[in-house]
Amino acid sequence: MQPLIGRTALVTGASRGIGRAAALALARAGCNVAVNYLNAEEDALSVVREIEQLGCRALAIRADVSQPSGVDQMVKRAFADLGDIHILVNNAGINPARPFLELTLEDWNRTLQTNLTSAFLVSQAAIPAMRQQKWGRLIFISSVAAQTGGVIGPHYAASKAGMLGLMRSYANLLAKDGITSNAIAPALIETDMVRNNRNVRPDLIPIGRFGHSEEVAETVTLLATNGYITGQTINLNGGWYMS
Ligand code: NAP
Repeated sequence: MQPLIGRTALVTGASRGIGRAAALALARAGCNVAVNYLNAEEDALSVVREIEQLGCRALAIRADVSQPSGVDQMVKRAFADLGDIHILVNNAGINPARPFLELTLEDWNRTLQTNLTSAFLVSQAAIPAMRQQKWGRLIFISSVAAQTGGVIGPHYAASKAGMLGLMRSYANLLAKDGITSNAIAPALIETDMVRNNRNVRPDLIPIGRFGHSEEVAETVTLLATNGYITGQTINLNGGWYMS
């Protein structure tokens, strides 16, 4: 019943929304979990308490994953307290909203740094131990915006499309090492990110409702347990984009 027992996961941006649901779902499947956050300490600590109540170990780690020094400290702490990381969920992200012709280079750099560079930095730090174990799972939370352009803007769409290239490169490079690399491309999941965006409505989605974080988390657990899916983008979008 707990297919991931004895595994350790690191979920970036796990204090709220999709990351929180993914951390809890992985714990229900038996994982110990490092819960990364940036500001929401109380929320992160409540995720840790819920994981401990499930009988797993957990640790909240404050780190800005857009910064190499933050990633370095986060990964060292996760290794020191929970052991080698087997499952990495690159989830932390931002979606600064602004009319697209008003986007500044600072908006662009901050979005790319937080959504894409972070996934590169954390993956690069986690992969060597996965390689030694001959077992690992890289999971990238991309977005339907990578496929359609989405409703946020070019900075966000480009950051999420970049994650798909990163994911496929790792899938190729690591297939022989027992490491899979996959992405999930959600659309309009009801989290703070969507609640704070006045431009989105459930009727944009063919299914007629926003998705739930738990529906993304179920897919995270699937990708963490399955060893034969690699190099794929799993679309979780209520039919908004069909491939
Ligand atoms: P959310 O509710 O706004 O939560 C974002 C999470 O990321 C929070 O835990 C936040 O930490 C963390 N975070 C932000 N910047 C960080 C940084 N520099 N370092 C460390 N952590 C950071 O967002 P969400 O809706 O759950 O989205 C999660 C991911 O799914 C994002 O990558 C988003 O682009 C993607 N996504 C979301 C949707 C959607 O409809 N919601 C659709 C497609 C893709 P604090 O709580 O500490 O601030």
